[in-house]
Amino acid sequence: MPERTIFEKIIDKEIPSEAVFEDDSVYAFRDINPQAPVHVLVVPKTRFTGFADLKSADAQVIGTFMQRVARVAEQLGLEKEGYRIVFNHGRHGQQSVDYIHAHILGGRQLGWPPG
Ligand code: 5GP
Repeated sequence: MPERTIFEKIIDKEIPSEAVFEDDSVYAFRDINPQAPVHVLVVPKTRFTGFADLKSADAQVIGTFMQRVARVAEQLGLEKEGYRIVFNHGRHGQQSVDYIHAHILGGRQLGWPPG
């Protein structure tokens, strides 16, 4: 078993976080170092180390995860003006926690391309 990451400890409430949404499949909470007025992380309760793990993941689990990400974005009031979903993967992607997480970023005009 890989070592537990900070996100497993957050899901298990061993480390406090500001919850936005939770059900049986996902936990959504505010990023501790927000990069936009709204910056929320959504993690599935099933661990995947990173985006590449989705290649062999159960399609229903992936679909539920994506559906929850969209629902959380709606709940945050971001649908009208828009938002960005980011999955950082690996070193070049600057992934810093080895537990898959969707960043929901919004609440301001975002730039493109990303740095
Ligand atoms: P990554 O760089 O891996 O895509 O994103 C990891 C994110 O987790 C970063 O945006 C970072 O600010 C956030 N993060 C790291 N540790 C904590 C924590 O203890 N609590 C919360 N709420 N966010 C964290």
